[in-house]
Amino acid sequence: MISSKLPNVGTTIFTTMSQLATEFGAINLSQGFPDFNGPQALLEAAADHLLAGHNQYTPMTGLPALREQVAAKIARVYGATVDPESEVTITPGGTEAIFCAIQAVIRQGDEVIIFDPCYDSYGPSVQLAGGHCVHVKLDPVDFSIDWQRFADALTPRTRMVVINSPHNPSGALITRADLDQLAALIADRDIYIVADEVYEHLIYDGVQHASVLAHEQLYARSFVVSSFGKTYHVTGWKTGYVVAPTHLTREWRKVHQYVNFCGVTPLQWALADFMAAHPEHTDELPAFYQAKRDLFCDLLGGSRFTFTPSPGTYFQLLDYAQIQPDMNDVEMSQWMIREHGVAAIPVSALYETPEPGQRLIRLCFAKREETLREAARKLCLI
Ligand code: GLN
Repeated sequence: MISSKLPNVGTTIFTTMSQLATEFGAINLSQGFPDFNGPQALLEAAADHLLAGHNQYTPMTGLPALREQVAAKIARVYGATVDPESEVTITPGGTEAIFCAIQAVIRQGDEVIIFDPCYDSYGPSVQLAGGHCVHVKLDPVDFSIDWQRFADALTPRTRMVVINSPHNPSGALITRADLDQLAALIADRDIYIVADEVYEHLIYDGVQHASVLAHEQLYARSFVVSSFGKTYHVTGWKTGYVVAPTHLTREWRKVHQYVNFCGVTPLQWALADFMAAHPEHTDELPAFYQAKRDLFCDLLGGSRFTFTPSPGTYFQLLDYAQIQPDMNDVEMSQWMIREHGVAAIPVSALYETPEPGQRLIRLCFAKREETLREAARKLCLI
């Protein structure tokens, strides 16, 4: 028997629930991905580049044209100047970017503060680096950060903090004031930040995303991660990027060159073309997804679930305490798939220690109107 390096890890909840959804023919609102295609011009560009023979490695750092587009977008959206050559790297997905940042910085015995609930890759990535996760819980109702609790979790061994805004699974947003608090609390310490901003453009009700890229003091010690998959409706392209100051990018690339070396070439060409031709795409995303969120929430107004409309991401949390108070969320999710034909993510799976009595499931609304209507019809019958 091999002695596992990750003894407490099984198959991810996203894979598990998607498989169950397929097995039972349920509408899959569990794993986060759109059930519609990315923009036609983007897809055509990918096909063109593939046929034009853009099929060999890009530079290890990513296609220069795409890094330039990323830097241009960052300047346009956040007013921040980053050097596409020394601060931007294209990655095969946000998850790899986060993994490499953790491997580049964390040594045996270092502590990494992560806020629960959170995306499930953070913990195992820290463990594989020999680090130790210190889990700080977000507020169980609005998923805000309690900075006193964070301050109490800091020790001389704290080496990194992972923050995520808009937040998966809750959609909660970190504010500029939060970033200022964080900056003040770690100012005199040797602590690095992973800022998971993969849902940066999925933010609603006219609110502006408070990016670490626009916070000079924090950016100086940060790896900021984003995802073309979320922004261009192509999660299966597994293409993202990481932005970090030159000295951190240098260390990050040392790891990346031995994990993936580079991302997929024709997709990078296509994204570069599309970003150059359609800078407005990111400006239009909030309205595009807000319409989906509003439709879904309106339809669920007729259900017995309770909820607050999600401020960001393409996830909506639903509280089922009034429906099945005695079922835990894993049982509830399985029951919903089997008996009601809708798959969701049990939020407890994204905690180290679940909140006792919490009755929350996460549903993805990155779906066509007909999918949302059919799912909501089923959810209203529960
Ligand atoms: N980030 C996606 C989600 O939260 C899933 C990615 C994955 O399946 N690993 O649903």
